[in-house]
Amino acid sequence: MIRFLNNNSLIMSDMTIAPYDLVIVGCGIAGAAAGLTALREDLTICIIERKGREFVGRKICGELMPMRIVKWLKNEFQISVDHYPLKGLQVCTFSGLMDGDHGIVRVTDPLCTIDRWQFGQTMVKELLRRGAELHQGVVRGSVGKNEVHGVKTHDASYLGTLTMDCSGVFSVLSRELRRGRGSPSRIGLGYKENIILEEAISQEYATIVFDNSFVPSGYFWFFPKGTYELNVGAGGMEQRSTHFRKAVAQALHEHTRFKIKEKTQAGYGALPLGGSLPSMVAPGLLACGDAARHTNPLTGEGIAPAFTAGHMAATTAAEAIHSKDTSLEVLWKYNYDFMQRYGALLGSSLPLRDFMVSLTSKELQSLLQNVITDEVLSQLEEKEPSFTLTDILTTAANAAKTPSLLFKLACALGKMGILRAVYSRYPKNPKRFPQWRTLATACGGV
Ligand SMILES: Cc1cc2nc3c(=O)[nH]c(=O)nc-3n(C[C@H](O)[C@H](O)[C@H](O)COP(=O)(O)OP(=O)(O)OC[C@H]3O[C@@H](n4cnc5c(N)ncnc54)[C@H](O)[C@@H]3O)c2cc1C
Repeated sequence: MIRFLNNNSLIMSDMTIAPYDLVIVGCGIAGAAAGLTALREDLTICIIERKGREFVGRKICGELMPMRIVKWLKNEFQISVDHYPLKGLQVCTFSGLMDGDHGIVRVTDPLCTIDRWQFGQTMVKELLRRGAELHQGVVRGSVGKNEVHGVKTHDASYLGTLTMDCSGVFSVLSRELRRGRGSPSRIGLGYKENIILEEAISQEYATIVFDNSFVPSGYFWFFPKGTYELNVGAGGMEQRSTHFRKAVAQALHEHTRFKIKEKTQAGYGALPLGGSLPSMVAPGLLACGDAARHTNPLTGEGIAPAFTAGHMAATTAAEAIHSKDTSLEVLWKYNYDFMQRYGALLGSSLPLRDFMVSLTSKELQSLLQNVITDEVLSQLEEKEPSFTLTDILTTAANAAKTPSLLFKLACALGKMGILRAVYSRYPKNPKRFPQWRTLATACGGV
């Protein structure tokens, strides 16, 4: 059987497609970043995506990302992306939200919302314009026994010097990465809808609301997409899918004054909330984004980590291919670089998330009013925060009169400190990985 593909190339079923430098599975965020980077490095690439070209980018998502990604695309790749700018992120409880400024903590680090589908379409257009081959197909597994040499769909095999798994939360090549050393995958769930408003709003911050009387294991979000539109949703470890939809409806009704004209683009999506894979490389293979569980376990933020991972992995892949050494030792640089940038943040977000969702609304409100300042919240992103455990505990002890809250806070901060230290010692080569892994597991990491 012969068929035409959406890039107008011609292939025959059950055939082997000639070798590329890089075979990329999935044209989401990580796949697009990897593709753009690899093309700039003069690699030949083939992206295999299960969705038809016109559906690339269609994904249930909160659509919030840092402004620096928009700037990075402009500066590095001359790609302009439509976006709605926001001043930063605010965190609160529903009572904090209704009361106004008291009890709302803000990080003023520019963010923006995008239209995820439009964004995906811009990426795909640029990838094709720059020479990528895009094949529509569902990847079912890898080619090669002890080393990955490409991937198979139901009717073809695509060979590559290196392969990148950017296939998202239900990673199709995860078996290759986990060989003999599994790590628990904790899949979270999110529900979102876009609400169109009757009256304009002037919300300059993206809002995350923790309130475990509505969502015991997660959070709500309200992300403005314009003066008349918001992306709203709820997500977390909750597995009963109907719960989030009802919780969002109830929260909108009871805790906001929005006059809703219309609801659009509603749906559920899954995301990995168990912290990054401890190693994202295997012989011939690099995994990025949700496929490597790069989503922040506390906030669900996955776009920026997926972009960074795709870019870093393709940079390492290009170095390996150009130097004709694609050994695991060379690919390890990607593991190291990613962990230097995100390891401490993703690792320490696990105990922070568990702590946040363990609090009652009253405890959380007291913490946000008295202990977690704008400064403390913004420092959580930093590799080496300027505050110390003692600083926070002293403030908490002066403000909160509840010993159980102080105890929970001390435990969470202690675990966060230990995991930051563990991730900052991520090994530079694979030989020291087993000892590091044992230490990380013993400390409650992956
Ligand atoms: C409800 C919800 C809200 C979210 N909100 C936000 C937010 O506001 N901000 C944020 O930063 N993050 C958010 N995230 C997380 C974010 O969407 C992901 O972390 C991000 O999309 C990861 O990018 P990726 O490239 O790894 O995966 P994806 O973007 O999912 O891309 C994977 C691609 O691989 C393709 N694919 C899958 N399997 C195969 C196969 N077998 N063969 C071929 N192709 C395949 C898919 O079709 C898809 O195009 C949210 C997630 C959910 C579920």
